[in-house]
This record gives sequence, C-alpha cells and structure tokens, in this order.
Amino acid sequence: MSIRKSRDWFSPDYMDQKPKKGASHGLHPLDNYLRKDRIPHIWCPGCGLGITLNAYLRALKDSGIAPENTAVVSGIGCSGRAAGYVDVDSFHVTHGRAIPFATGLKVGNRDLVTTVFSGDGDLFAIGGNHFIHAARRNVDFNVICVNNFNYGMTGGQAGPTTPTEAETSTTPWGGFEQPFNLPAVAAGAGAVYVARWTTYHVEELIKSLKEALDKKGFCFIEILSPCPTGYGRKVGLKTGVTTMRYFKENCEVKNDADPTDVALDPKDPKSKIIVGKFIDREAPTYQDERGKVFEAARSKLGVK
Ligand code: SF4
Repeated sequence: MSIRKSRDWFSPDYMDQKPKKGASHGLHPLDNYLRKDRIPHIWCPGCGLGITLNAYLRALKDSGIAPENTAVVSGIGCSGRAAGYVDVDSFHVTHGRAIPFATGLKVGNRDLVTTVFSGDGDLFAIGGNHFIHAARRNVDFNVICVNNFNYGMTGGQAGPTTPTEAETSTTPWGGFEQPFNLPAVAAGAGAVYVARWTTYHVEELIKSLKEALDKKGFCFIEILSPCPTGYGRKVGLKTGVTTMRYFKENCEVKNDADPTDVALDPKDPKSKIIVGKFIDREAPTYQDERGKVFEAARSKLGVK
C-alpha cells in the first residue's frame, strides 16, 4: 500500500476524484461531510476550530441524520468559516445574524435539523439580542458557540467573553469589563439544553453535540477553544498545546451545576473552569406553539 504525501491530497487530480456512492473519499472518515475543494482551511496552526468542527461532524454522523436533512448557519469570524467547509446546505451570513437566518429556515422547514455554528463575538455582541430571543422562544435548533475569548479574525480585540483583566490588542493595559457567563445567559433566557466543554474534552463534546442534535428545542453548547494567534500570545497561552494543557489542568467536570455558578474567574488562580452538561429540560418549542395558534386561527376563521 502506498503512503500518499499529504500535499498530494490537495492536488487537482486528487480533488477531482469522485467517491463511489456511499463510500468515503478515502482521506478521512468524515470526507463525505466536508467540501474537500475548500481544503486546506484558513485556520491558524494550533487553533481549536478544527477540533470543534471534527466533533460536530462526528456527532452528526453518529446521530444518523442524513446530510440532506441538515443545515449549518454561521455568522462572521473565524468560526464562521465552518459553514463553508461542511458538505451540507450551509449559509455564511452577515455579522450577528446567524440566529434570525436559522429561525427562518426552521419556520420554512421544521424538519430541517439546523445548527448555528459561530463565535462568541458574533453570537453575543452584535448577535446578542437575537440569541436571547431565540432562547426565550425555544426555537428548535442548536447553537454551538466556539468561545476563543476575543475577536481573533480581526486582530485580537476584546469581546463580550474576554476575561476582565486580559491584555488584548484593544486593552493593552488590561481590560475592565465583566465578561458574559454564557451558560447562565443561555439558561436564563430559556434554553432547554446547556453544556460547556473545551477542545480538550473531545469525547464528552461529541456526546453533548449528539444529544443536542437529537433534542427538540433551543440547545446551547459553549466550547472553549485555543486562539494562539489572536488571544493566547498576549496571555501566556502561546500555542494550541499550551492552551490544551491549561484546559486539562484547570477544568473540573460538574454535570448539573447551576449555570450561575460557572462563571470563569481568571482573577482567582485557584478557580477551576467548570465544564459539563448543566441543563437538560423539556419545554414546548416555538414551532409547536406557533402551529397550535395558527391551527386555532384557521379553524376560527373557517380557513382550510
Ligand atoms: Fe483560530 Fe485565532 Fe487563528 Fe482565528 S485567529 S483561526 S480563532 S487561532
């Protein structure tokens, strides 16, 4: 058996090969879920985004959901590029607007398993209002937030999850704002499933993603992820490996923890990063309630 040199995988000859029906391209078990003509990706060496996308695609594969019944919507930022790499119906929309776009998809086709895959800046700064209202309405889709603690793509600016005193390109003497505790925001706004993992917790993350894909209602998963280029180099986490080691040494799994108790506290060096599945509850979805009201209105008006 010949060993293919990695650069051969990106040669025009290889890229033009079409897999047999039902078979993978042979490069990777998730080949059929990736647009191989878009590879190599743009993410920096040591970035955690490859791990997060890999985990999502593995969960999708494990869930048995057909790619043609799936949609991925991303906003702007490094994580937003994920929509361009997945070989399902995917949409890379304007900054902060992934959630309203996904809501429209679900209203138009309630059977479409929809996932919003985006970053902390996109989802919780310009898109923050959309996030809380989609959670309040319990719109039936999953929101994966890859939290890298900064605006990585645009040069490492401070964002809504940047730890208070962290040095960034816009806070060269350290910041002074309180970051969001994302699981508490999601749970407080009404999400029926809330979990936080890091790129170190791959198996747990895949399990959570699969649970979210299988569950009805607004499901939120925060993934803490290395960004050596934009954030890490300013705060002593200069490589992806250093950040992964940091996650390994500083995380504590606490399933069912109260989301209001899991804020990240970088001021306390002994504080742990709490990860786990925090919320898993049932509530009527936006689609169900909307359907009932429309049905009642039709019957009252005598409209078929
Ligand atoms: Fe990843 Fe950060 Fe590079 Fe963006 S800037 S690709 S988040 S390492």
